[in-house]
Amino acid sequence: MKVCVLTLFPELFTPFWDHGIIRRAVQSGRLDPRTVNIRDHAEGRHKITDDRPYGGGCGMVMKPEPLAAALAEAKRRMPGATTLLLSPQGRPFDQSLAEDLAGTEEALIFVCGRYEGVDERFIDSHADVELSIGDFVLTGGELGAMVVIDAVTRLIPGVLGNEDSAGSDTFSDGLIEYAHYTRPPAFEKEAVPQVLLSGNHQAIDRWRHESALIRTVLKRPDLLEQRGLSNEEQETLRKWRRILDGLLE
Ligand code: SAM
Repeated sequence: MKVCVLTLFPELFTPFWDHGIIRRAVQSGRLDPRTVNIRDHAEGRHKITDDRPYGGGCGMVMKPEPLAAALAEAKRRMPGATTLLLSPQGRPFDQSLAEDLAGTEEALIFVCGRYEGVDERFIDSHADVELSIGDFVLTGGELGAMVVIDAVTRLIPGVLGNEDSAGSDTFSDGLIEYAHYTRPPAFEKEAVPQVLLSGNHQAIDRWRHESALIRTVLKRPDLLEQRGLSNEEQETLRKWRRILDGLLE
C-alpha cells in the first residue's frame, strides 16, 4: 500500500517509519510511505501556510492554496488515491474501517491539520473522508495519521507473521481478546490457568473463547449489544452467573 502524508512536520514521521512492524512492512515493500511538506508548496519568500480567520476570533487557519498544491503533488505520484483529512469532526476511526481500508485501498493520502484547522473550501473540494481518532482535540493531525497508518498496515496481508496474527485481536470477532500469559508459570503468587499448560488445544481454544466473552461482558458490554450471542455463548454466561450467584450466597 502506498501512503503519503501531507504535513507541516514531516520529520515527525522519520522514526515512525523506522521502527517495529511498520519498519518491517516498509522493508518488505508492503508499505510504501512518503511525506510531503505543505510548506514547500506555499508561495512567497516567507512560505506562509496559515492566516487569520475571516470574521475574527482566536488562532490561525491553514490556507487552502498550499494544501491544494501539496495534494496535487501527492496525486501526481499516486493517481486515484483516496484523500483522508484528519479532523476531530470526522467519522470515528475504528477496527472495521481499518479492515475496509486495508482490504480495498491501494493508495491513501493523509492531510494533517494544525492550528484551528483547515480552510473549509479545501475540505469541501478535496477531502474524500474526514477521519477522527477519538472525541478529543489534538494539536495536529500527525498522531492521528500515524494511528490510522499503524492500524491499517498491520492488516495488510503478509505484514504480521503467523506468530502475531491479527485474527484473534480485540474487535476482530466483536469481542475483546482473551487474557495472555507467558513465563514464569507463577508470578507474585498468581499461577497461569492450568488449561494453558495442558497441551490440549481444543480445551485451550474453548478457554480462550470463554475468557474473551467474559472479559467483554466485564469491560465492554456495549460491544455485545451490537454483536449478539450464540446459544453456546449464552449458556457459558449462564454457567458463570450460576457460579457467581453461588459465591455470593
Ligand atoms: N478547531 C478544530 C475543531 O474544534 O474542530 C480543532 C483543530 S485541532 C487543534 C488541529 C488539527 O489537529 C485538526 O485540523 C486535525 O487535523 C487534528 N486533530 C485534532 N484532533 C483530532 C482528532 N480527534 N482526530 C483526528 N485529527 C485531529
